[in-house]
Amino acid sequence: MQYISTRGGMQPQPFSETLLEGLAPDGGLAVPEQLPTVDAATLESWRGLSYSQLATEVLALFATDIPREDLARMCEAAYADFPDGVVPLRSIGGGITLVGLSEGPTLAFKDMAMQFLGQILEYVLEKKDSVLNILGATSGDTGSAAEHALRGKDRVSVFMLSPQGRMSPFQRAQMYSLQDANIHNIAVEGVFDDCQNLVKALAGDLEFKRAQHLGAVNSINLARITAQVVYYFWAWLRVTDAVEPEFRDGFEVSFTVPSGNFGNILSGFFAKGMGVPVRRLVLAANENNVLDEFFRTGVYRPRSAADTLATSSPSMDISKASNLERFIFDLVGRDATRVVGAWDDLAAQGFFDFSADQPRFGSEFGIVSGTSTHADRLETIRSVHETTGEIIDPHTADGVKVARSFVEQDVPMLVLETAKPQKFAETIAEAVGVDLEFSPELREMLAAPQKVVEMPDDEAALRGYIETHARH
Ligand SMILES: *Cc1c(COP(=O)(O)O)cnc(C)c1O
Repeated sequence: MQYISTRGGMQPQPFSETLLEGLAPDGGLAVPEQLPTVDAATLESWRGLSYSQLATEVLALFATDIPREDLARMCEAAYADFPDGVVPLRSIGGGITLVGLSEGPTLAFKDMAMQFLGQILEYVLEKKDSVLNILGATSGDTGSAAEHALRGKDRVSVFMLSPQGRMSPFQRAQMYSLQDANIHNIAVEGVFDDCQNLVKALAGDLEFKRAQHLGAVNSINLARITAQVVYYFWAWLRVTDAVEPEFRDGFEVSFTVPSGNFGNILSGFFAKGMGVPVRRLVLAANENNVLDEFFRTGVYRPRSAADTLATSSPSMDISKASNLERFIFDLVGRDATRVVGAWDDLAAQGFFDFSADQPRFGSEFGIVSGTSTHADRLETIRSVHETTGEIIDPHTADGVKVARSFVEQDVPMLVLETAKPQKFAETIAEAVGVDLEFSPELREMLAAPQKVVEMPDDEAALRGYIETHARH
């Protein structure tokens, strides 16, 4: 299996070559030359597998340049630290089942992909006898998932910028309590965009980037996308465990995905293309609903950072969906010229327009969408609590709210649970008046000493810090 760029300007490359770079050299994103497919008999033969065994089967279709026994070992290690099972499913009534993706070390779904990425990065660097310094900016979940996946690794260090005083005490503790020598938390005097701009400035300096072995693990990373494909297979297998064997073949389910950068739902789109019987993929947005607008109208108009609202589902506060380009590539029949054309339009006029194709989004690709607001989140958290006694997090609540308007008779609706409510205790208290219990481990984390370097919003200072502390 080889990988090409959505913009047509990259020689086909094997899986492990796509991991260390963010963008393809032509500015596009790496996609499989051809999506692998899984027939019904093979799918059925995977029913008895554990999560990490299933991950090995699915990822082996993508990472054909990595020996199977190595892949199996990495998957085993990646999904070992999930105390309550890797991806549990539970019904909340009304035809809706939650798919638990937040059982990992940072209580959010990014662990699902990042834990595997941590394994495979170290593996590939070992083979190349090389090192990597991850430079990133975070306003929450991505940074902590990356740090927890990469802590203590021999060949990777992490330099994670966060806006000083802008993260919740929980988010700060989750990152800053890590004492590992290869984890560098840098609190910048500024907002998230200032952090992002510093990262862009350094990553754009190719000489510095090469000299310091800088890399990224952001949401366009192909290993993350492929690792996320696995749980769509898993969820279908677990739902159909309860279906009579003769009706399993082609038994359709729908998924609702709380979305920001279009990474999670893109993995679902891949799973559907590979042969998981998916009827609909429902995209749930919060007030920053640039993607809902696109799927309803065909017009994609990213918003500026200033026009991005700070909401109570903060991990979805994104107004430019970096993975959308991979969907557009398929939408235009994998014609890289048309992808380049769309991004030229975007640069020239601030939007691109696929309104003529919009009817196909649902009928041909199965993607529909909806928006949820702060009031919807509170109401949804409340109603789920009343009927089931369960407390769901605000992002999952966005999913449940939007899912409810797409539930169909006899089609299980699976909502991806993307975080644990403990991460967002204030919103939970507002919704149901309950102060959440923290486990002893979480209390210990919140009270632990913190390791963080404070820095002005200054490129020269950051360069100096990286030169001194990077692995070489
Ligand atoms: C990152 C994140 C999302 C959005 O996922 P995308 O892949 O960016 O669409 C949703 N919920 C939570 C809790 C997240 O951390």
